[in-house]
Amino acid sequence: MNIAHLLLKSAQAFRDHTALARGTEPHLSYRDLWRKVSVMSTHLRVRFGLAPGDRVAFAMTNCVESLEVMYAIWHAGMCAVPMNAKLHAKEFAFILDNSGARLCFVTPDLAVTIAEAVKDALSVKEIVDVTTRPYTFMAVGDPSPMAEAEPTDPAWLFYTSGTTGRPKGATLTHRNLLAMTLNYYADVDRPPPGSSMVHAAPISHGSGLWNFPMMARGVVQVFPDSGHYDVAETIALMNRWPDCSIFLAPTMVKRLIEHPRLGELKPGALRLISYGGAPMYVSDLKNAMKLLGNVLCQLYGQGESPMTITHLSREMHGQTDHPRWEERLASAGVADACVEVRVVDEDGRPVALGEVGEIIVKGETVMAGYWNNPEATAKSLRDGWLWTGDVGTFDEDGFLTLKDRSKDMIISGGTNIYPREIEDVLNLHPAVAECSVVGRPHPEWGEDVVAFVVTRAGAQVTAAELDRLCLDNIARFKRPKDYKFVDALPKNNYGKILKTELRTRL
Ligand code: AMP
Repeated sequence: MNIAHLLLKSAQAFRDHTALARGTEPHLSYRDLWRKVSVMSTHLRVRFGLAPGDRVAFAMTNCVESLEVMYAIWHAGMCAVPMNAKLHAKEFAFILDNSGARLCFVTPDLAVTIAEAVKDALSVKEIVDVTTRPYTFMAVGDPSPMAEAEPTDPAWLFYTSGTTGRPKGATLTHRNLLAMTLNYYADVDRPPPGSSMVHAAPISHGSGLWNFPMMARGVVQVFPDSGHYDVAETIALMNRWPDCSIFLAPTMVKRLIEHPRLGELKPGALRLISYGGAPMYVSDLKNAMKLLGNVLCQLYGQGESPMTITHLSREMHGQTDHPRWEERLASAGVADACVEVRVVDEDGRPVALGEVGEIIVKGETVMAGYWNNPEATAKSLRDGWLWTGDVGTFDEDGFLTLKDRSKDMIISGGTNIYPREIEDVLNLHPAVAECSVVGRPHPEWGEDVVAFVVTRAGAQVTAAELDRLCLDNIARFKRPKDYKFVDALPKNNYGKILKTELRTRL
């Protein structure tokens, strides 16, 4: 089934309900959204000459057009490549080139960056700014029928950076996305028609993935005018639109509960906060529950099994009289309805309860593989099991607690930062002999990035020079906030840098 059927069915069942809203204003009803995407899909095929299976990318700050574009792509049987709006031109170039995208939609703030990026991504033939006439013109003309899609056809390439430093495109099929949607109803919530969702977190990631369960239920999806997470604006939108659901990274939840205007949130305005993507401190969680009520549901997932590995439901959050309530709050909950989850040793054998091992997952939500990257696919998918790279332990009731991130990933403000990517850049400097990048606990962001640098004998380099080098090569948010110049890096007998020791020093 083509995932765009979710919209078609809602266009029939909830025709005049508002589907999309710009801030406080309704933008399109379900029927009008359906009509618009079916006309846009004609343009994709006829005007841009694209065919089913072609990849179409976008780089946009959150806006209603992002969902218009996505559904037009699926309606035409093509594959969407949503890119994180905060990436660097070189990172965009890599994704555009790797995915072989033929067309890229942008918001005006990203037009220059993408124009720069496509110089190194020759597959991209055209860039369309969604605020200009070429985009407006896409709503004019005849609708075309929805393309058929096999369950195994790629629908969404979800690019995540890996330990290799190169982003990898987790290939999510129509079936993966449908399973994820049904899983939302089984484990997270079943939002009623006419309720709302505010997209404050990036649409290229979790918030965008949650569009499906909303679209299928006649929910109004609201895009903040600012295009990002502004707490005061978010509170105003939650008051404006009824029975609101929202996806937030743990640091965003913390910013919400610590905001001076939280008191303005009307009782009952908030239906659900689903949070995840990084660990949430128990103290913050308890605080959030005290201030907001029992509206929180935790998710543990990754791009490779989107939003679906385990969950800690609202009910579980609310079982305050359970003897292991605190322990459970510190866990990531129990396995989702649509997946089987195991904790295993290096050979894939399940370890005993309470013992730590790598988390592996099997089920309908697990990606088909990494786009154009058979080597990485073979490492991550073995005998149908996804090796997550996360480490954890199960208790006797099936609650999974995450212990560490075996890939040394840093999570800052809910966004993953892979040290290797930054180390690769720092190593470009002729004065850098060696370096290692680690995360340091940060009260607001969860972690921030710190680089340990060893300079070559007789050579000199300043933090400002290294900062410039990073700005020239990677997204701003990834660059180290602090540089520690040291004589040597701690290493084990195999010469492997001991990041744990570096973290301890911090
Ligand atoms: P991404 O592929 O960008 O969604 O990142 C996925 C990674 O974020 C996972 O492999 C985990 O390391 C981390 N993560 C996701 N959800 C949680 C959670 N609920 N608690 C702790 N870490 C999480």
